[in-house]
Amino acid sequence: MPFEPGVPVPDGFVPLCVPEVRGNEWTYIRECLDTNFVSSVGPFVDRFEDTVKEYIGTKYAVATVNGTSALHIALLVSGIKPDDEVLVPTLTFIAPVNAIHYVGAHPVFIDAEPIYCQMDPQKVIDFLEKECNWVKGEMRNTRTGRRVKAILPVHILGHPVDMDPILEAARKYELIVIEDAAESLGSTYKSRKVGHLGDIACLSFNGNKIVTTGGGGMIVTDNKAWASRTKYLTTQAKDDPIEYVHKEIGYNYRLTNLQAAMGCAQMERLDEFINRKRRIADKYIEALEDVVGLVPIKEANWAFGTYWLFTILIHEKYYGANSRSLLKILEKYKIQSRPLWQPMHRSPAYTEAQSYRIDNADILYQDALSLPSSTGLNDSEQEKVIQILRNKRI
Ligand SMILES: *Cc1c(COP(=O)(O)O)cnc(C)c1O
Repeated sequence: MPFEPGVPVPDGFVPLCVPEVRGNEWTYIRECLDTNFVSSVGPFVDRFEDTVKEYIGTKYAVATVNGTSALHIALLVSGIKPDDEVLVPTLTFIAPVNAIHYVGAHPVFIDAEPIYCQMDPQKVIDFLEKECNWVKGEMRNTRTGRRVKAILPVHILGHPVDMDPILEAARKYELIVIEDAAESLGSTYKSRKVGHLGDIACLSFNGNKIVTTGGGGMIVTDNKAWASRTKYLTTQAKDDPIEYVHKEIGYNYRLTNLQAAMGCAQMERLDEFINRKRRIADKYIEALEDVVGLVPIKEANWAFGTYWLFTILIHEKYYGANSRSLLKILEKYKIQSRPLWQPMHRSPAYTEAQSYRIDNADILYQDALSLPSSTGLNDSEQEKVIQILRNKRI
């Protein structure tokens, strides 16, 4: 059975990750309906943007229709041009890679480090130092001759990328840093909030994310010009609101007031959601730590993770079953689990793209399995998951 996280599961199933809608969602959405502010202008859009930007600490926030469109526009406003190259992790959901393609640029796939499964900063540096040349004030990929313009780290599974070495390399080689924080709203890197580490960042409020609006996204940045250009491009690039004059080609990428209303209610509970997910993770870690061949992915000592999707690595040789057979066993007991994404360098959609020294990502793809992590997961459901993992041959 194909599992789509964030959508309701068949009766009796313990879901992988479903939203929790028990706060002011009804009240705020009713307010939209009562006031007729249902579309892409309205007080909740502004309020949602203000709430998120205050939470993350950026100067600006612009809501978008989803996280993928946020990434698309972030690449446009930060000046990524056709034929530029962008370094992106191979171990990611495909959205940021597609966004690179939308602007006519090319991804270069970078490996994951083996502990937290995040983009490996050392390989980013090695690629820039060994595979690129500084030509007339620009970084050029020696193999393709193309300009390397940006790094797009993706904070996966609710844990930050080790950003300082990446930020330092970006400064040194004058590259833009675009964070994909879609999976990691609320996590911090050395006490700094994810989404406020690079030049611009993107969030998603899809149904499976820690805060959801059904579908939605946001761009956060300290760059005033980029923020206003984001607003412009996401609203059809309208230069005159009466005559409908357009000097450029824009997009209809705005979030609706209805969705933003839900987002406002969800944001009120974000810290509670994070606490709950961290407690779920603690319990898994404690219960599974002595199981030979199972390695819970924990947080780094420089990180505060949200444990958006709690994930374990399964070493078949020691555990006696692999991630895919374990998935099937769990499914038999009506428990949803999910592997990570096929790494991008293996994706039939991106066979042409360059990848650089990838070895960990393939192993992680083979070994990882995400376990039920909904904030609403109750103790007996979690206990059931744990018991199956501890006695996998039953
Ligand atoms: C969910 C997600 C996105 C954006 O997804 P949308 O469904 O377009 O909101 C982008 N990047 C990553 C890593 C994601 O997990």
